[in-house]
Amino acid sequence: MKKTISPELSEKLKNTFEFLRAETNRIYNIEVPVIYVKFDLTTQQTLGAIGKHPEYENCFSARLNLDLLARYGQLYIDEVIVHEFAHAVTDLKYPRGVRPHGKEWKAIARNLGLKNPKSTTSLFEVDKKHLRTFPYKCVCKTHQLGIRKHNAAVKQYKTIKRNRYTCSICKTQLQYVENVD
Ligand SMILES: [Zn+2]
Ligand SMILES: [Zn+2]
Repeated sequence: MKKTISPELSEKLKNTFEFLRAETNRIYNIEVPVIYVKFDLTTQQTLGAIGKHPEYENCFSARLNLDLLARYGQLYIDEVIVHEFAHAVTDLKYPRGVRPHGKEWKAIARNLGLKNPKSTTSLFEVDKKHLRTFPYKCVCKTHQLGIRKHNAAVKQYKTIKRNRYTCSICKTQLQYVENVD
């Protein structure tokens, strides 16, 4: 997972927000308020999100995926940033609310440069490795552990012949299904 972006890419991102802001003003005569950006999306399934800022009145809060931005650069900017920005403009133009990916949003997204506005995209390859789970059994049920917990459990098993994961219901140790005979 790449955790940083180059200064060039960060500049491109800034310029894109400025461009979209200017276009919104030119086309709709709407002044887009401050958008606070957080790079806190990590799962490969969420590309981006935007909404009213929870604390700052009239501002927006955008949540982006740093890993996807670092990996896809311009493609992420063209697709996800424009998509999310169009949601903000739709909110401002239709304060009483419209369908999230309805005709109003589509028209705005297209005017802001998105060629084929859709609710989802398959442009970004989903990293299945992060989504894979491993079956573990306790006395009462089967648990699904993610890759990180599974790797930790395997490592613990190698050194201390047990792992530290127990079931919260029956309190017995979890055993990897392949280790159970
Ligand atoms: Zn959307
Ligand atoms: Zn149990």
